[in-house]
Amino acid sequence: MNLIEEKRDERLCGVCRQRELFILCDGCKIPVCIECLKYGMYGTGCGNIQPLHLCRDC
Ligand SMILES: [Zn+2]
Ligand SMILES: [Zn+2]
Repeated sequence: MNLIEEKRDERLCGVCRQRELFILCDGCKIPVCIECLKYGMYGTGCGNIQPLHLCRDC
């Protein structure tokens, strides 16, 4: 079992780096915390709406 220390950083929000990540941004795939999360909607044009989880830059 190898525990890799550098993996620890990936648990932090990539925007503010102060809170733990909540989800990955659907746009750029960086980790975002609940405070930096921005919800979006993505309509496919045929009645389906997919929720998007975005960072502040997306
Ligand atoms: Zn954050
Ligand atoms: Zn993003």
